Amino acid sequence: MIRKTRLFTPGPTPLLPAAQFAMAAADMHHRTPEFRALYQKVLAQLKVFVGTQNDVLLLSCSGTGAMEASVSNLTSPGDRVLVLTAGKFGERWVALAKAFGCEVDVVEAPYGQTFDLAQVRKALKPEHRTVLMQGTETSTAVRHDVEAVAKLIKEVAPETLLVVDGITGLGTTHFDVDGWGIDILIGGSQKAVMIPPGLAYLSVSDKAWAAMEKSKNPRYYFDLRKERKNAAKGESAYTPAVALIAGLGAALDYIAGQAGGDLEKGRIALVNNAQVNAEATRAGLLALGFTLFAPSAPAAAATAVAVPEGMDSSEVVKALKTRFASVIANGQGEMKGKIFRVAHLGFFDYLDTVALLGAMEHIAKDTLKLPVQYGQAVAAAQQVYANAVKG
Ligand SMILES: *Cc1c(COP(=O)(O)O)cnc(C)c1O
Repeated sequence: MIRKTRLFTPGPTPLLPAAQFAMAAADMHHRTPEFRALYQKVLAQLKVFVGTQNDVLLLSCSGTGAMEASVSNLTSPGDRVLVLTAGKFGERWVALAKAFGCEVDVVEAPYGQTFDLAQVRKALKPEHRTVLMQGTETSTAVRHDVEAVAKLIKEVAPETLLVVDGITGLGTTHFDVDGWGIDILIGGSQKAVMIPPGLAYLSVSDKAWAAMEKSKNPRYYFDLRKERKNAAKGESAYTPAVALIAGLGAALDYIAGQAGGDLEKGRIALVNNAQVNAEATRAGLLALGFTLFAPSAPAAAATAVAVPEGMDSSEVVKALKTRFASVIANGQGEMKGKIFRVAHLGFFDYLDTVALLGAMEHIAKDTLKLPVQYGQAVAAAQQVYANAVKG
């Protein structure tokens, strides 16, 4: 039988064909009126997609570049920062802040869980320059309560800045950036916006701009003030990833097109789409006898699933690839072999979910020798879908 390659990974995610065409056609110099028009259009669209009145900047780098820019632009050596970590990407904040000479306090949750807010309240001090956290921790597929943390900061440490890695949160979670007071919110191109890796985008609040004037860490390529000045003229400071920006414009057009041309409604529809697909996936995999790795705070960006005791999740990853040319993600680091992760962020629809669950029925039966009845996982997902569209 022929097989179609399908990505079910939480970044890179499947590419939108319209974005691929736009990228192929983007034969453009970046200091021209054509590019300026494109750049200004995309920056304006991004503000709506992020859902903020704050400046939104684009950087030609992967998501980690924008994480680094947040730390280098907002902190000085010796600053105390608070990192809320519950997985590999939280650990990245710790390493990054240390690399820039910050004194790092940590509130940690076990893999598969979100942190205890009482512990965050206890740890948070007015002298913390920033709080660094994820919206969704992709390595464990956990969703964190950004709104509650933002509220705590307003109460306990109103000078402290809130920096959120929303790289898989954007497009899968509703964020009220301005209402809650998120000072920097970061997204990445290879996640919900359906294009290849290579771009990061971030919203920056007035409070963060003011704080930047006083921070002393070195920055050059990632000097956000310089990017802001250039963005105001419709340019980037250095040669930008022109083709990716053209692709991003096409993808944001597509997202708007899903809601009659209204990008804000399109973004909400995209989030709801991820949430329904995530719920359907959880229901389907539970019906097959798997255990959710993050049952108490599951993200809509991806679902992490523990394989039954004594089994190896690498077998599931391998079998899906060889039999169905479908790529899911293994666990990262010490979670490798224990869990697998299925993404829902970006260009996935309900039929993708049904297809994956159908394939998982074969794998659960043949590879893991679980007592599977064909249709079990798919039926559970169909029930979720039916309930969701009924409203
Ligand atoms: C993908 C991802 C990143 C960014 O990683 P890059 O490889 O630099 O793009 C950061 N945080 C989270 C939560 C992610 O999912």
